[in-house]
Amino acid sequence: MQQDLIDFRRELHTYPELSGAEKDTEKRIINKLKEFQPTQIIASLGGHGVAAIYDSGKAGKTVLFRADTDALPIQEVNDFAHKSVYEGVSHKCGHDGHTAILVGLAKKLNQYPLKAGKVILLFQPAEEIGIGAKAVLEDEKFKEIQPDYAFALHNVPGFPKGQIVCRKGNFTPAAISLVIKMQGKQAHAAQQENGINPDRAIASIMHQIQQLHHPDLGSKDFIKFTTIYTRIGSKDYGISAGDGELHYTLRCWNKEKLDQAKQQLTDLIRKTCHENKLGFTIDWIYYFAANINDSYAVDCIEKAAKANQFDYLDKPLPFQWGEDYGLFTENISGAMFGLGSGEDSPALHHDNYDFPDEIIPYGVDTFYSIAQIILG
Ligand SMILES: [Zn+2]
Ligand SMILES: [Zn+2]
Repeated sequence: MQQDLIDFRRELHTYPELSGAEKDTEKRIINKLKEFQPTQIIASLGGHGVAAIYDSGKAGKTVLFRADTDALPIQEVNDFAHKSVYEGVSHKCGHDGHTAILVGLAKKLNQYPLKAGKVILLFQPAEEIGIGAKAVLEDEKFKEIQPDYAFALHNVPGFPKGQIVCRKGNFTPAAISLVIKMQGKQAHAAQQENGINPDRAIASIMHQIQQLHHPDLGSKDFIKFTTIYTRIGSKDYGISAGDGELHYTLRCWNKEKLDQAKQQLTDLIRKTCHENKLGFTIDWIYYFAANINDSYAVDCIEKAAKANQFDYLDKPLPFQWGEDYGLFTENISGAMFGLGSGEDSPALHHDNYDFPDEIIPYGVDTFYSIAQIILG
């Protein structure tokens, strides 16, 4: 076990930063990377992102490995020595661990340099709010990198520690959130007929959305809606409600299905609001592109796991969370895999979750072997 990587992971855990505010995290990453002498470091990539380039100086492919670096607005309940020093902010998705793994890869590439091509280590900010991948991919500094392949991992509670979990095709769905705001007219509670209460429209939209639900993971028509929040009027008992809102997330397997669903929802909301004489707005927020794993890239992951004698699981069905790495697989051949973080681990985004340090070497060695397989 490499104590320096554990110490670094715990340092990030102690000083977590929210999406888009990873200023000190960026500095810590750059300082640590300097120990392992990359050919070049690119800072301020798509916000507080960092790329470290290991160039063999010889012709060959360019392989990118990506880690995410942001934390969540969750109050940590754990009481260990490395607990978050910031009120209401903590690493509850294991991005501290993903970052430590990529730093471990830098260390290994420095110790055992590759013989051809280039490796890019990308530390991506703002994953949790779905804007970091886009910001990095659109950054002029990134356009000079042009990777041939891109890989990433996410730790997965519920799977044995160190197990490599992957599949060809869909790995995570396309996901988006929806905010519907409706404007009617308030009236005296005794004379609601003089106002426009959005209650019937909201009940009708909720019912219609339930009808669209198709939660069969094995079907190409899979679509899942989750009600996040709803409100009608206010707690003023003399007033008939004059406005309301509904918030949902929805997910399905690809962009075409998502675009279809968005159109269908827009039509039914428009129709229902018009029928009920309500003004309305629809906002689509937090878009996560579907993560579609390239077949050759998955073969490389499987070979890399087996070369290290790590347990490999070909997952029959995709995961259901949204992950903004999907935008990389939309633009670059590549894949994401899961790294088991223990069957008994608390779930991601739970207030008592902590990344298990024991799985760091599994991530480092799998990434390094993938680079070896592609670059020779
Ligand atoms: Zn997360
Ligand atoms: Zn995450």
